[in-house]
Amino acid sequence: MPQGIAILGSTGSIGQNALRVIDALGPDYEVVALSAHSSVELLAEQTRRYRPRFVALANGDCAAEFRALVDGLDTEILTGPESLTELAESDQVETVLTAVVGAAGLPSALAAARSGKRLAIANKEPLVVAGELLTRVARENGSTLVPVDSEHSAVFQSMQSGRSSEVSKILLTGSGGPFRGATRQELEAVTREQALAHPTWQMGPKITIDSATLMNKALEVIEAKWLFDVPVETVEVLIHPESIVHSLVEFVDGSVIAQLGEPDMCLPIQYALTYPKRVAGLSKPLRLEEIGRLHFERPAAETFRALPLAYEVAQTGGTAPAVFNAANEAAVENFLAERIRFLQIMELVEHCLDKHDVRGTATLDELLEADAWARRQVSDRVKQKV
Ligand code: NDP
Ligand code: MG
Repeated sequence: MPQGIAILGSTGSIGQNALRVIDALGPDYEVVALSAHSSVELLAEQTRRYRPRFVALANGDCAAEFRALVDGLDTEILTGPESLTELAESDQVETVLTAVVGAAGLPSALAAARSGKRLAIANKEPLVVAGELLTRVARENGSTLVPVDSEHSAVFQSMQSGRSSEVSKILLTGSGGPFRGATRQELEAVTREQALAHPTWQMGPKITIDSATLMNKALEVIEAKWLFDVPVETVEVLIHPESIVHSLVEFVDGSVIAQLGEPDMCLPIQYALTYPKRVAGLSKPLRLEEIGRLHFERPAAETFRALPLAYEVAQTGGTAPAVFNAANEAAVENFLAERIRFLQIMELVEHCLDKHDVRGTATLDELLEADAWARRQVSDRVKQKV
């Protein structure tokens, strides 16, 4: 029987790459379910091509338009924000690839973990917002979490050289984004287009802006803490502009094990689906002699405030990471809409963290409340012209 896969967020950058990976993997892997928010035309095209048993459209307002486009197909159509959760729980699905952007993917990721599915996680924000809850629910229900994020896939692969108790350090690499080496003064004037021009990776707009502020690396530090069950201080960031060494693990005996490859998400997506097996796939072979040199440096934490904040919020715990993430999501939306300047993204995040009364041990409802509170704060502040 082929492995039945649900791709949540199939119209996005990861989602579309995942479909290419599944095409190349052949008949052992079957697309059983797809979902989008409102990209009806692309979702309809994918539905006609893959004939999944279910599709979910989170934005119910587009339902009629979508139904008209796929008229006559025997795919079951679910609509509304809850529809992704239904897909994640379906008996026909063995593996859920979460490729939704933002905390909006939390309910469906939790549902997949609760139903004991293999969870291939690209959508990092739910792990930041509710890492304790999500990893606990997965553990209690026998759900395997396999990272798709390239750094975490590299760590996951490197971890197989030792036991978790033998790890002394996790070194997450990051390209440094388009503004590596810039001063705060230079960052004052950067435009949306400059921030969207990532030097090494092709990704959706939100994560591309997060890469420019280093918020992406900050979220990844917290993501690593939960995925690998380590204190946050064990996770360090190393800037590596070529994006070839995807991350490294240092063990207690001093050995450092890394995973290398071209900057292409197809490999980590594929590994999350085939793990523990490896099969030939789409990735281009790595030719180190053509690359020649690899560089590493410390991140500029004074310029890119997201990184020190990540350690603070991870140590504080409770509702703090949820506020950190939601304030950033809302601020990035405003930056993409050209309502605020680049440096104001992190100012808004810091403002929300300063004003927030942290709840130490937070329930799902409290986390969602903190998330909504931070989004309102950002919106009010932007309306007052920051
Ligand atoms: P994109 O913006 O390209 O795609 C997002 C997907 O999520 C789309 O299918 C979109 O549908 C859907 N979506 C958006 N909002 C909602 C919502 N409220 N409810 C349900 N579905 C929604 O993002 P990426 O593919 O770049 O990133 C996805 C996730 O993977 C992020 O968490 C990111 O951090 C992570 N990631 C991405 C990498 C990359 O290379 N892109 C690398 C590592 C991690 P629609 O098209 O209809 O809007
Ligand atoms: Mg990454």
